[in-house]
Amino acid sequence: MRILLAEPNKIGRLILTLMLETDGHQVLACDSAEVALQHLEAEDGPDVLLMAIDFEGMSSLELCWSARLVASTHRPLFIIVMSASTDEEQLAEALDAGADDFIGKPPRKTELLARLRSGKRMLDAQRELIRIASFDALTGLRNRRFFFDMIAEAEAKPELASILVLDIDYFKQVNDRHGHDGGDMVLQEVARRLAEIDSRFARIGGEEFSLLVRGPIEMAAVIAEKVRREIAMLPVKLPSVELQVTISVGVAQRNPGMTFEQAMKDADIALYASKSGGRNRVTLARVADNTASLEAQPRSHDKSQGPRGEVVKLMA
Ligand code: GH3
Ligand code: MG
Ligand code: MG
Repeated sequence: MRILLAEPNKIGRLILTLMLETDGHQVLACDSAEVALQHLEAEDGPDVLLMAIDFEGMSSLELCWSARLVASTHRPLFIIVMSASTDEEQLAEALDAGADDFIGKPPRKTELLARLRSGKRMLDAQRELIRIASFDALTGLRNRRFFFDMIAEAEAKPELASILVLDIDYFKQVNDRHGHDGGDMVLQEVARRLAEIDSRFARIGGEEFSLLVRGPIEMAAVIAEKVRREIAMLPVKLPSVELQVTISVGVAQRNPGMTFEQAMKDADIALYASKSGGRNRVTLARVADNTASLEAQPRSHDKSQGPRGEVVKLMA
């Protein structure tokens, strides 16, 4: 496991690092609670925080609390507090502050490694719960809950972003003609093609998918058109038949200061325009500062799709 060791004593750090590395763990050691917190805040944080309770500056309890907040619901973290004291009050405070386990200091090797194995079992179970709660069982894509949690997190950041919403055309007919199982296979195949283009696509409804793009609407429009084309180009193979499947897409930009809820609404309106405009097309919501530059572009290689297959910009 990846272990962040926060221990102010230099000798203690060296001995523990050696002990853990010999058992096959990756160890990142630091001597202060402040530096430990910086490591925890990094994108690819550790699995375990093994921390002393006697820091100067930021208190250990503060580190416990902060570590719990940083780890949040998406990132499991196992926290073990080490202390030479047998003070029950201190033990209770550490556990209340978010620690999962407590070990005497200096830790004995057999006990520490056993506690880490128990921690790994807990982390594995937490990861499995997160996977079940965040991913769609049918397609393996991120689910609606994951998508909207991510948007809620992004809400606080004032950066330019775009939302892409897409919906399979005439999907009810697929279910009616080929049964629910046939419909499910189409959903799986569409999801597979989406994931090939961007693994962050989420299934936000029955046959509705969405992607948060960290960039302007032009960037999202390129992805949208690629997705539309790749799905329209290759038929989906069911056991007894090949189906031509198309999608309609709506794209909107979230300008700084604007809520994602508004951007989502704009993308939905653009998606509706794609549907009423004939389906199998991408529509860009109008952008307040008028930076969207893609105009109607019929796709010449999509002759089989008739007049459909175009990128349209909604006018103000
Ligand atoms: P449009 O082109 O306007 O989008 O038409 P549509 O037929 O795709 O429209 P609608 O949104 O009304 O149909 C969606 C259908 O998707 C209805 C519902 O029964 C079906 N559906 C929702 N979830 C699933 C699923 O998990 N599996 C299958 N097979 N069908 C599903
Ligand atoms: Mg549909
Ligand atoms: Mg729908």
